[in-house]
Amino acid sequence: MNAFLETPIVYLKGVGPQRAELLSKELYIRTYGDLLNHFPFRYIDRSEYQTIRDIPFLDSAVQLKGRLRTFQISGAGRGKKLKAIFEDSTGSIELVWFQGHAYITKTLEIGQTYQLYGKAKKFGSSWNIPHPELTPWEKVDHSSGYQGVYPSTEKLSDKGLHSKGIAKITSVLVDLLHGKIDETLPDYIRQNQKLIGLEEAYRSIHLPSHPNHIPQAIYRLKFEELFFLQLELLQRKQISFEKGKGFVFSELKDFFNQFYQNHLPFELTNAQKRVVKEVRKDVWTGKHMNRLIQGDVGSGKTLVALLTMLIACDNGFQAALMAPTEILAQQHYHTISELLEKMPIEIRLLTGSVSKKDRLPIHEGLQNGTTQLLIGTHALLENEVQFKNLGLVVIDEQHRFGVAQRARMWKKNSLPPHVLIMTATPIPRTLAMTFYGDLDVSVIDELPPGRKPITTVHRTEANRLRVFGFMKEEIKKGRQVYVVYPLIEENAKLELNSLMEGYEAISRAFPLPEYKISMVHGKMKPKEKDFEMQRFVKGETQIMVATTVIEVGVNVPNASVMIIENAERFGLSQLHQLRGRVGRGAEQSFCILVSTLKLSKEGKKRMETMVRTNDGFEIAEVDLELRGPGDIMGTQQSGELPLKLSNLVLDGALVVLTRDFARSIIEDKSFYQLPEWTAARTKLSTLLKARPNWGKIS
Ligand code: ADP
Ligand code: MG
Repeated sequence: MNAFLETPIVYLKGVGPQRAELLSKELYIRTYGDLLNHFPFRYIDRSEYQTIRDIPFLDSAVQLKGRLRTFQISGAGRGKKLKAIFEDSTGSIELVWFQGHAYITKTLEIGQTYQLYGKAKKFGSSWNIPHPELTPWEKVDHSSGYQGVYPSTEKLSDKGLHSKGIAKITSVLVDLLHGKIDETLPDYIRQNQKLIGLEEAYRSIHLPSHPNHIPQAIYRLKFEELFFLQLELLQRKQISFEKGKGFVFSELKDFFNQFYQNHLPFELTNAQKRVVKEVRKDVWTGKHMNRLIQGDVGSGKTLVALLTMLIACDNGFQAALMAPTEILAQQHYHTISELLEKMPIEIRLLTGSVSKKDRLPIHEGLQNGTTQLLIGTHALLENEVQFKNLGLVVIDEQHRFGVAQRARMWKKNSLPPHVLIMTATPIPRTLAMTFYGDLDVSVIDELPPGRKPITTVHRTEANRLRVFGFMKEEIKKGRQVYVVYPLIEENAKLELNSLMEGYEAISRAFPLPEYKISMVHGKMKPKEKDFEMQRFVKGETQIMVATTVIEVGVNVPNASVMIIENAERFGLSQLHQLRGRVGRGAEQSFCILVSTLKLSKEGKKRMETMVRTNDGFEIAEVDLELRGPGDIMGTQQSGELPLKLSNLVLDGALVVLTRDFARSIIEDKSFYQLPEWTAARTKLSTLLKARPNWGKIS
């Protein structure tokens, strides 16, 4: 451990107890090391000023020189605001403070000239700058060239730790740096990879003496970050491999063979065969399987899961399949029951809507082992559900289950059951490598034969009548149509309204008795939902109006048109999932994205991407570009991802480089044996201790 980096931040000149507490609370900065790793997100040239006239055309924060005019208080109570006018030679703009009014009116002087730094916001038709940083002109340090702009928060700003305040304490820290940072990479590697020293990198990223030094510093620090991330992942994988004993499924007997030879409804695709082989190899060796199966919507993941469950049965174990929604669990239950109809296997369905009375026999069957397969929702995780010998858990559409929920499945047995996770959200390789460090990944990269690519078009609301006309043509041909409305999480009422309005409009355009319509939404009781769903599945209704409850997994091959209303409100992966509900039969399928005429830049890109490609991996790449990795994996995981500078997509090449590099020194053991890796070993063991659970997926 490095004592300097571990020094509590309170000891830094200019910090003190109050600021230290706030830094810890707001930004998790507790030590010198934390502050050193709190990086600028951009730089300003201190000698450059913008003008107020230019503000509407600038996208970023601005630096202005001007005079302060008139304070004014408006509003009352919580809505109370302090306003001021700031003017330069080109115009004036309003400044606004929501907090700290007394301090501001005391320290700022009307009529004085200030340097202002802040980000302007559009408010109605005019602009203002909330909580700007103001420095009296005579105190501005005009010599300092480039300065880092640091992330801060409102509370920190109130205590003088806005970006500039943070820059100041950071520069104090950087002055203490000399000789305090252990170089983690041996010289020959730094030379070989053209990397500057670690200490120099820290110095230059915070206090660049020349703008040219910034990219080198960032590159070195990204390298550091990704290299240690990969070392950590490889190390964890090693540990879990050594610990990871699992049940041995060495036999392939009647269940598997009979099904494969007599009941398989179609030949497996090559990709399905390969993945089944990969799974078999895992469970055959007595290693604990922890495998993610990625396969685009419709690629046939269910069948792979079923075959794996049959292997478990052949070896005397029970298997469970867990789905994220009731509808999906039911559908799996029906599909699998049908496929196994002629086989002596007991399958049960357990979801939230199964009554207490009906649960008892299910619990019994699981406990005494007469039930071999259990299919259900997270109801499977309840304590009363105990298995005789659970050997395998399949989790469908994994991203909907939290890590904690998954961990609970483990506790149901002495040895952990094998885990197979199926997801249709394709994750780019660089991301998968990092997020699923200790998970093996299989990819079903082939669709069953005979699928026609779905034709996707983008229409605006003004074209709705033509869309209705198209629906009528398709229905006349005997097809069925989905119309999906977005789920508006913050406002359930709004969601229902837009769905109901849509339903009414469609009912008017598609009147009885010629047309029959189903409707499904989240506020319905499971029984009603199921009833409506089944009517559509059986072909009794031609149109299914729904919110995204139908997003995942639902399989109605005769449905060939997917209309997505308010398409601009959906994320790319959701749009792709929804589109995957059609294109499951032999007919040509269509997806129509209906949006408002005006779209944000991002919205436009999403529509264009959907129209351009059906490839889930390509869509995931664009999604990642638009949203960043944290958002994609869910907030829970993003918080755990220890990356400050690197972007797993934009820095994909560096991810691969550091991965290969880390692997080579671990595999040839030089990392453990050679003295030049001493500092790196120390750092790695600190990281492993600091994040004991990081990277553990199930
Ligand atoms: P997903 O991967 O999206 O879960 P499913 O498992 O639901 O996909 O399969 C989609 C459809 O493809 C189902 O109707 C299934 O019966 C069919 N299917 C699966 N595998 C094959 C195959 N090898 N050949 C033909 N059809 C298949
Ligand atoms: Mg599925």
